Amino acid sequence: MADPERLLPFLTKECQGRGVQIFERELGALAELFAEYDVVVNCSGLGAQALVPDEAVAPARGVTVRMAAPWIKHFVVASGMEAEDPQHFAHVLPRVDVAVVGGCKEAGNLTPEASPEEVERYGAGALMSS
Ligand SMILES: Cc1cc2nc3c(=O)[nH]c(=O)nc-3n(C[C@H](O)[C@H](O)[C@H](O)COP(=O)(O)OP(=O)(O)OC[C@H]3O[C@@H](n4cnc5c(N)ncnc54)[C@H](O)[C@@H]3O)c2cc1C
Repeated sequence: MADPERLLPFLTKECQGRGVQIFERELGALAELFAEYDVVVNCSGLGAQALVPDEAVAPARGVTVRMAAPWIKHFVVASGMEAEDPQHFAHVLPRVDVAVVGGCKEAGNLTPEASPEEVERYGAGALMSS
């Protein structure tokens, strides 16, 4: 776990400084790269569903809140409580300036919106468990 907003620009700069070239383009299939490259590493996340295609890849919806809580220094992930609450997935991920807190994991749900009730429940709930 890391502070991606700081780590990723740093790593990008480091790689480019060592001659790595970065291209961005949308692929219809992974096989489009096979003629151009000897090695293809697939890190397409949920996109692998269509790209590979890999039907075993499935979404899980979470609700996360960024809180200005720089005093939080410890990562907390409270999973494995499915018997009590199938959606329970309380987590507190400290970054440098904020903490990313949340608390659900809904298999198969692609809904991007979160209701004010969910933000209150999962944001406060995760902080209580930290
Ligand atoms: C709200 C939230 C907060 C998080 N906070 C933290 C945190 O503070 N610290 C931490 O360590 N982790 C955090 N995570 C987890 C972290 O974001 C993931 O673990 C990480 O992004 C996984 O990286 P990945 O490269 O495997 O997949 P992804 O980040 O999902 O990247 C997949 C990439 O593949 C690309 N792609 C897919 N299909 C195609 C296609 N057909 N053609 C071209 N490109 C394609 C996508 O555009 C995407 O760029 C957080 C996650 C969420 C959702």
